[in-house]
Amino acid sequence: MSLLVVGSVGLDTVYTPFDKVEDALGGSATYISLAASYFTGPIHFVGVVGDDFPKKYITLLEAHNIDLDGLQIIKDGKTFRWAGRYHYDLNVRDTLLTELNVFESFKPIIPPKFQKAQFVCLGNIDPVLQLRVLEQLDSPKFIVCDTMNYWIEGKKDELLEILKKVNVLIINDSEARLLAHEPNLIRAAKMIRQMGPEILIIKKGEHGALLFVEDQIFSAPAYPLEMIFDPTGAGDTFAGGFTGYLHKTQDLSPDNLKCAVIYGSAMASFCVEKFSTKGLEDLDYLRVLDRFREFRKLSRFDEKE
Ligand code: AMP
Repeated sequence: MSLLVVGSVGLDTVYTPFDKVEDALGGSATYISLAASYFTGPIHFVGVVGDDFPKKYITLLEAHNIDLDGLQIIKDGKTFRWAGRYHYDLNVRDTLLTELNVFESFKPIIPPKFQKAQFVCLGNIDPVLQLRVLEQLDSPKFIVCDTMNYWIEGKKDELLEILKKVNVLIINDSEARLLAHEPNLIRAAKMIRQMGPEILIIKKGEHGALLFVEDQIFSAPAYPLEMIFDPTGAGDTFAGGFTGYLHKTQDLSPDNLKCAVIYGSAMASFCVEKFSTKGLEDLDYLRVLDRFREFRKLSRFDEKE
């Protein structure tokens, strides 16, 4: 059974201190699917674009074994657009524009062949749409969900509804504090897990990620890169690498979840090295595996007897 990915597909305009790019391929489902495609396939993709969405992006997604039968292309519709500007400290980003466009009237329709999905990754979109997706699935076994401050602030009740139904929530540190109204991340994690997800991942940008599973906390480093070009999509890419690896291995034990967090971090490190999705377009599994192994060296230490 294939991995089902639902989320935004869009055209991003991004300014960093080094360069800028206009109408580049973006969106949560895009990054998730590209990252997951290095572990499993075909990826079953559900989203919406307008007929202004460039054909070359469709070709790119298809070339990564992403099945676009669930992609609605709305005639005379305008594709979702987002623009952001990064500060000199790339952890700080201002959102300049969020134009929902075709997303405003989007009703996700899950094609029959996607409805039996066991593994689902709900990318960052309106939690109302995430709920509609789950209603159409037969009996999903493992649901990973991402969200952001935009929805925590604007659709809190609907977000709380979806949290009751998912197995894993992936959010960043500031979003965790916002969601729990609690500045301490360990306490915030406890409160968020009481909202539903038994597994929680809190991403801390260039400081890595924390996994909360059963009574364990696992701290994963971020890969130390000398050149971070564009952090856009790193969080979604993390989610794609994480879920893709779990789908490939079909092992949900805490030890394998820790490996999945490292694979997610490895994929995110490739993503930020180039603009837009470029860092995810020409990888191969051996490069991913090499980087996974580099992570092992990063935080391994032995005590002298
Ligand atoms: P990240 O850097 O992980 O936050 O993801 C950035 C991606 O999320 C960009 O490619 C955007 O197109 C997409 N995005 C930004 N805002 C939203 C939103 N409100 N809903 C859905 N997707 C969004």
